[in-house]
Formats: sequence, structure tokens, C-alpha cells
Amino acid sequence: MKRSHLLLAIGAIALLLLFPVGVTNPYYIHLLTTIMIYSIVLFGLDIVVGYTGQVSLGHAGLFGIGAYTAGVLVMKLSAPLWLTLPAAVLVTAGFGALLALPALRVSGPYLAMVTLAFGTIIQILINEMDFLTEGPMGIKLEKPILLGLQLNERSFFWLVAVLMVLALIVVHRILRSHLGRAFEALRGSPVASDCMGVSVYRYKVYAFVISAGFAGLAGSLYAYSEQYISPNSYNFELTVLFLLAVIMGGRKSRIGSLVGAAIIVLLPKLLDDIVMFRYVSVGLAVLVMMTAVVGIQRGRATLQKMAIPVVGSLALAGLSFWLKTMTDWRLSIFGVIMLFVVYYLQDGIVGFVRNALNLQRPKAQVQITGAALAGRDALSTAAAGASSEILNASGVLMQFGGLKALNDVSLSIRRGTIHGLIGPNGSGKSTMMNVLTGIYVPTAGAITFAGRSVVGRTSSDIALSGIARTFQNVQLFGEMTALQNVQVGLHHTFASNLLDVALGTPRYRRESQAAVDRGLGLLQFVGLADLAFEEARNLPYGKQRLLEIARALALDPQLLLLDEPAAGLTAPDIKELITFIRKIREHGVTVILIEHHMDVVMSMCDTVSVLDFGQKIAEGGPAQVQADEKVVEAYLGGQAA
Ligand code: ADP
Ligand code: MG
Repeated sequence: MKRSHLLLAIGAIALLLLFPVGVTNPYYIHLLTTIMIYSIVLFGLDIVVGYTGQVSLGHAGLFGIGAYTAGVLVMKLSAPLWLTLPAAVLVTAGFGALLALPALRVSGPYLAMVTLAFGTIIQILINEMDFLTEGPMGIKLEKPILLGLQLNERSFFWLVAVLMVLALIVVHRILRSHLGRAFEALRGSPVASDCMGVSVYRYKVYAFVISAGFAGLAGSLYAYSEQYISPNSYNFELTVLFLLAVIMGGRKSRIGSLVGAAIIVLLPKLLDDIVMFRYVSVGLAVLVMMTAVVGIQRGRATLQKMAIPVVGSLALAGLSFWLKTMTDWRLSIFGVIMLFVVYYLQDGIVGFVRNALNLQRPKAQVQITGAALAGRDALSTAAAGASSEILNASGVLMQFGGLKALNDVSLSIRRGTIHGLIGPNGSGKSTMMNVLTGIYVPTAGAITFAGRSVVGRTSSDIALSGIARTFQNVQLFGEMTALQNVQVGLHHTFASNLLDVALGTPRYRRESQAAVDRGLGLLQFVGLADLAFEEARNLPYGKQRLLEIARALALDPQLLLLDEPAAGLTAPDIKELITFIRKIREHGVTVILIEHHMDVVMSMCDTVSVLDFGQKIAEGGPAQVQADEKVVEAYLGGQAA
């Protein structure tokens, strides 16, 4: 961390801890305690929503499970705090795994519905299982005893504050680590994650489990904080509020979670009485107007775009003076303000402020060592056993309905060679790669790689056994930097687990630094060292293709599949591409190259196989294939059509 940031963080924590000394009114202490508890839920929810890009409307249910785990343990067993909190975390994490199951099958609105059903079922179960939960009566409990000390509102505040800061640090560490990159990669491109050896299946479950653990911790604290829990606290409204809070505050941001939590706790209170509402609405109108003026002056917004928010906020201010009481209007106004924020501030409040002040997203802190700069050892040398067979496909049939995209194709790839795969559009080249990397399971036929069958194994398993690839339509993790993209490819170099990451053990720090060094080395290898901290989606198309190759190399593959790497590259870029594909082979990596640029194919390949309508029509040296009548005809026919 930068020194100024560290000082800022220490200052903020000190202020937080001093709050109950300065403000002695228990009402405000309780309010801030609630905000901190909600923040813990939101840190976890942001992992699922912000990073992996899944929707969850089940988090109020998880929060309830945490609360009831603590409540039941206290009521039935008079369990102490040191038992209830870990139990709540573990039990809720278990339910998180359950909630992850639908996410493995469905996404988007369907997932939202299934997770919502999960939350509802939890609420019903709590209501019905009165032998355990006392049903609708709810459970009363005291503030906990810690180290023989009966906590009161103020000392409980300190407990929550310490746990919240710890939760923040742990979540932050997780998200900055290889685990966080795996979560974010899922959102960017699930197919590419799998093909980089990062199992989408496993990391979706992890994300839900970790997220649920935090919801459980928060839930148990909530039970102690309210000293009373009942089933209808964990309802639909709360789950929607949680989701809105993450989006409003700003996803992929811890400060965003804090802001979101503060809004969902404070805004309803601010709307409680009419005088307060007048202050809020006038303040909002002034803020919106100022934003509009500044935005238009700087050319970032147009008059039309700003008209609705300005008129809307003025109307709200007008309404506040017209209304006599708040009671009937509170919820509707609350809803309107929330919708407004979500609609107009897509990156949340934190994103908006960052944009307005022209601040960059905080760059990943990396320490660049000499090894990285020298680009040394970026490419490890694969075992060279030249001229033995590394991959064998025989009689591969891939059928999509009635279409035989691959029809009885056999391939033999020799170790250490560059094997060209050519053919007209739609002849089945990309399908072959998808079959080799486990994206499709062939209808019939056998494939062995390094002596082991590939058929039926998952893409991530195949990737980890040494096959890396690029994609015809580039599949990068768009919101991640170039370096982070390559680091996802280096995921397999980490042995550190969740505990290593949370504690920052020497093992984790060593692996993490090694991944930075190698990542930068690989970027340098493909000539992208200058763009290491640029988000992948902002790179020009040609550079994106090069980045994909660097990411694939990070996997230390024995076999590299390149699907039209030269497509969209300029002539000088293609020349460069040729030199480093050669370099890759010099390191002993075998390459299968799909390419339309004949000069590239002819100048580099040792062997070329030609596909047409899913069948192999020719094979041999480049010159031999080029002269083949059937090949000429296939290409001419393709061009005529
Ligand atoms: P190439 O890469 O040689 O241009 P492809 O392998 O992408 O060709 O496609 C071969 C044929 O298989 C095409 O006719 C394509 O429409 C079809 N195809 C590929 N993937 C699928 C799929 N998932 N479902 C149905 N048809 C597919
Ligand atoms: Mg293709």
C-alpha cells in the first residue's frame, strides 16, 4: 500500500473506533453498527455480483441463516461468542454451496429467480421449524459476553468495527489474489477461464461459499445487535436492498460496499420525517444541478441527457414542500431515488465520483523486480523429445444435429513441430480445436494427448495437462488489465489456499511475486510490456490477439493451438507474429496453427492438413499440399461460392 493510503486508512479506522466516545447517543451507535454489519454482507455479495457477474437474490436468506445459527445456539446451548460466530460462518457457507448449484446451470434472470426462491424457502423453513427456531415468535437474546465482559451497545460497536475491518482486509486480499482473478475471469469469459485451467465450476462454487460465509458472519452479529430475530426480517425487500446497495455503491469496490450499506440504512431514516426529507431533496437537487453544469461545461454530458435528472430532482424538491407528512410516501420516494441512482449511475456512486474527479481505478500494486524486466525465464522450455507423437486423433466425428462438422478426421501431431490446419470457411477447423480442448465432446472417435485420452475430460483439466489455446473471436477478460489476463494463465503456479491469501503467508507472497515477474516477462515476449496495466478491452484488436497468445503461454503448454492468430493484424505485426511463433517452437512447444494467410502457413509449417466440409482432403509438406489438386479445387470452389 502507498504510504498516503495507509495513513488515510489508519485515520479512518481511528475515527470509526472513536465514534462511540464522541457520540454517546445509543441510537446513533446502533445505526452505525447496522451499517457496518450490512457492509460485511455487501463485501461478500460483491464477490458474487461484482466479480463473478452472477445475480443473487438469496443473500437475505443467507443472512437469516447466520442470524438463526447464532440465535439457536445461544437459546438452546447458551453457546459463547467464540462458538456462535464461527458456527454461523461455517453453516452459512455450507448453504452458500447449495445456492451455487443453480448458478452452475442457469444465469441472468433465471438465476435471479432461483436464488429468490432459495431465499423464500429459507424464510418459510425458519417460520415452520418452530421446534428449533420458535417459528414466528422469534428468538430473544442478550448482547454477547466477550472475555468475561458483558458487552453493551458501545463495546459491541467496537467488536463489530474490528470484525468489519478484518472482513474488509480479508475480502480485499482475496480479490487481489489469484482467487479474485479467477472470479473476475468467470465474468470476462467462462470459456477462456476453463481453457486457462481455471475451472468455472469450481470457482463459481467458491465465490458463493466465500460470499455466504461473510453473510453468515454478518447475520450472527445482526442477531446480537438487534437482540431479537424473527423470520420476516429476512424477506424479499431486504434481499433486493442488498443487491441495490452493491450496484448503487459501485460494484468491485469495498468503498462502494460501505457507501451502499450507509445508503440503505440511512436513507429510509432520512425520509422518516418531512423536515429531513426537505433537506435531503433540496441537497440532491443542488447536487444534480451542479453535476449537470460541470458535465455540460466539460463536454461530458449534453443538455438532453441531463434534462430528466435535473427536472426529476427539482420535482422531488417541490414535492417535499408540498407534502405535509411523510408516512404514506416514504417507500415510494425511497424506491424512486434508488431507481434514479441505479439508472443514471451505472458504475455506482464510487464510479461516478471517480469519473468526476478523473481518478483512475486503483492500479494493482505490483513490485517490478529485475527478473521481470529482463524477461528472463518467461517461457519455460518444454521437454524436447523431437519427432515422437504428442497428439493423436483418430476417426473424430462431431455432429451438430444433421451436420457433420467433422467427419472421420484423423490427425497425428509430432512433438516440436508447427502443424498447419487449413481449409475454407466452415470446413471444421475451429470445431477441431474445440474438440481437442474439451469444449465439445466428439460424437465418435478417439483423441490421445501425451498418452492420455482427452475425450470426456473437462476443458480445465485438459488445459492443465498441457494444451493451451487462443480463440478465433478473441476471448479476453475485458475488465482486467493485460497483466492480470496473463496472471490468470499463471493460476496453475499457485499452491496457496484461502488461508494463505487471507494471512498473506510467505508462500503466497512468493508465488504472487513470481506470477508478476513471469507475467511481465511474457508480456515483454509478445511486445506488450508497455501496456501491462491497460485494461484488455481498451487494447487495439491486433494487440488483443498477442495478449491472448501471452496468456496461453502462461499455462506452460506442451501444445499450443492458435486459431487464426494473424486475422486482423497489420503486415508488420504479422511479421513479428511469425518470429515469435518460431521462438515458441524453439522452446520445444508444439504448435497447431489455423491460418488463412497462406504465406504464413507456407513459411512456417512443417506439416499441413487440409479440411473441407469436415473431412481431411490432403496432408503433407507445405509445397506438396499447395500443389494438390483437391486443395486448389476446395479453395477455388470456396471462393466461387
Ligand atoms: P471453420 O473454423 O473451419 O471456419 P467451424 O469449425 O467454425 O469452421 O464450423 C464448421 C461447421 O460447423 C460450420 O458449418 C458451423 O456452422 C458448424 N458449427 C460449429 N459449431 C457449431 C455449433 N455449436 N452448433 C452447430 N453448428 C456448429
Ligand atoms: Mg474457424
